[in-house]
Amino acid sequence: MSKRTPLIAGNWKMYKTCGESVKSAQLLKSLVDGVTGTDIMIAPTFTSLQPVFNAIKGSRIDLGGQNLHWETEGAFTGEISGDILKSAGCSFVIIGHSERRQYFGETDETVNKKIKAALACGLKPIFCIGESDAERDSNLTFSVLDKQVQAGLKGLVSDDLKDLVLAYEPIWAIGTGKTATSDQAQEVHTFLRASIAKQFDDPLAQSLRILYGGSVKPGNTAELMSMPDIDGALVGGASLDAETFSQIVNY
Ligand code: PEP
Repeated sequence: MSKRTPLIAGNWKMYKTCGESVKSAQLLKSLVDGVTGTDIMIAPTFTSLQPVFNAIKGSRIDLGGQNLHWETEGAFTGEISGDILKSAGCSFVIIGHSERRQYFGETDETVNKKIKAALACGLKPIFCIGESDAERDSNLTFSVLDKQVQAGLKGLVSDDLKDLVLAYEPIWAIGTGKTATSDQAQEVHTFLRASIAKQFDDPLAQSLRILYGGSVKPGNTAELMSMPDIDGALVGGASLDAETFSQIVNY
């Protein structure tokens, strides 16, 4: 069991209208009322951020954005800055999700700029990395992840990264119903902690929260969370229903 405070984070992707988001957030707030010792975050769509922030006020649920632009402001139609996310109540932001990399051209370089922008304005980045099916089959998992970590955190030092959260999300497990086994996930998390120790230092590696993401559901959370290097979960599909998500929070 990890010594770090667990974080259960919900990524609502492009689901839910404002009204649906608020309803879901209100229900979740009541369902996690008695929770202690676990951090909780939800990331609704941009237009739902402020109303959801109002709905979760007074609870232990934090708010997160699903993306941000690296510039602080300017003529970037359709984009959103860290300061704007903060003004809507966000304390976290998901960066480098595989769907962003796959469909919106995000690269290790843009992910690196976004992590720096998030840290500069006081948002906690949830930095997503993961290998594809083909990369795992070709025994490239560790080299792919090492490259993503090195490039994503390039130019940063240990002191910058106290609020960073790493999320290991094997692409083959996202939205597929195929979860990595707890042993597979633990093996990667051990590797990632060692990689952070090598790139930065051991105290950072020991304090860094590393989440697992990929078809997490109530039935597999306890097993995943029993692993010493799994410090929480980034949950997509199963975070959309407040009851189901609260069962994950209460693993
Ligand atoms: C995600 O989108 O980060 C994710 C892990 O999705 P799912 O839980 O649906 O696999």
